[in-house]
Amino acid sequence: MTMFGLREKCGIAGVFGYPEAANLVYLCLYALQHRGQESAGIASTDGRDIYIKKEMGLVAEIFNEEKLSRLKGFAAIGHNRYSTTGESTLKNAQPLVVNFKYGSLAIAHNGNLVNAHTIRKELEETGSIFQSTMDTEVIVHLIARSKYSNFRDSLNDALTKIKGAFSIVMLKENELIGIRDPWGIRPLALGRLKNAYVIASETCAFDLIGAEYVRDIKPGEVISINEKGVESWFPFEEQELKHCIFEYIYFSRPDSIVFGKEVYEIRFNFGRQLARESDTEADMVIPVPDSGIVAALGFSRESGIPFELGLIRNHYIGRTFIEPSESIRHFGVKIKLNPVRELIKGKRVIVIDDSIVRGTTSRKIIKMIRAAGAKEVHMKISSPPITHPCFYGIDTPTRRELIASSHTVEEIRKYTTADSVQYLSLEGMIKATGYTEKEHPFCLACFTGKYPLKFQ
Ligand code: AMP
Ligand code: SF4
Repeated sequence: MTMFGLREKCGIAGVFGYPEAANLVYLCLYALQHRGQESAGIASTDGRDIYIKKEMGLVAEIFNEEKLSRLKGFAAIGHNRYSTTGESTLKNAQPLVVNFKYGSLAIAHNGNLVNAHTIRKELEETGSIFQSTMDTEVIVHLIARSKYSNFRDSLNDALTKIKGAFSIVMLKENELIGIRDPWGIRPLALGRLKNAYVIASETCAFDLIGAEYVRDIKPGEVISINEKGVESWFPFEEQELKHCIFEYIYFSRPDSIVFGKEVYEIRFNFGRQLARESDTEADMVIPVPDSGIVAALGFSRESGIPFELGLIRNHYIGRTFIEPSESIRHFGVKIKLNPVRELIKGKRVIVIDDSIVRGTTSRKIIKMIRAAGAKEVHMKISSPPITHPCFYGIDTPTRRELIASSHTVEEIRKYTTADSVQYLSLEGMIKATGYTEKEHPFCLACFTGKYPLKFQ
């Protein structure tokens, strides 16, 4: 089955009521760069027209003063996108801008629809022509073809037809709209900067521009902001909450408040819980930078084993994970990290990372630390084994490529060449978030295979 936009993970932002709104959105996207490094775009409005600039690459590389100055107006939305090859073309970069019966509309989306394929087929059979493979375009077609004759009813009509993970920002000539799916899978927060409103995937974007975090946009909520103020409504049927726990494990920045809690605190607790579940004796705890740092601090605090920065990261290269080919990915770990030899030599070392995907990173790092003279290398992971791919907007490879889908922990230990490998237990992870196993509001499908929403 073709799944459109399968591997999208993104950052989105919107501003309403600020002169040169595009500049603020640019800064928000800069703070959200970790959510997507493939392309970025901003659409703005001055109340008459919608202006758009999008390109492949990083936010800071794409935009300059001159390009930003052409994005005129008091309202703007923006998007950072990451997706794997095949799909990575400018055609699929967002925001998407259309002109239709309701005027101009720009839209940007984080997540994946599970029924985009079915809807798209239906729409194509009845004459719709698509220009991209983005789920976002499906939403636009549904609005355009709704039986209702005004924008708001058509929007609500379209929204009730889509299923999946969707945090969305939309821009009309005089309106900014933020939408979150009723399962609350991906985050979306509302902030304020003087008289302006800001919407962003994560609150770290507010911090950069000096905006105040007001609250999360609620699961199933549509927020409309125009010159009269803020309106909110809930067009969806209520659903069981399924916040993506991976936002806490890896994806969100530790300084963001996501799903009502600071990511740092939860990630620290994952490390603490991992230590409670561990009986390994060691001389030091070393994080894989940057992904393992906060959990390693928690582990060290709980176990009393000293925390050391035994691996030094070169900050001026991208994440190895996004390198396109296997050969470069192998090479990438070496460019990125170097061990501190004198510190490690002759020592029993615990290495902490947030997750193992294919196993490539762990294997390289363990070999590197052993080559630097470590006596023992124990790998500890602050989440359970990832056995299933994500269909809701986090980029994970296919099931076959996920090492834990077909290998036991002992086999993973052998592959990574570690003296031991330990994962955080599923129950321990949930407990560390402060919820009981029964009452937790999380999607755990990549660890359990229990997908809350099926592909249609
Ligand atoms: P791997 O070498 O494939 O096992 O990748 C493991 C590394 O990828 C870990 O250091 C994680 O922090 C990182 N990681 C986990 N999930 C993702 C993701 N969805 N996108 C990018 N990197 C990831
Ligand atoms: Fe998040 Fe995993 Fe669920 Fe995807 S499958 S939404 S990564 S918890």
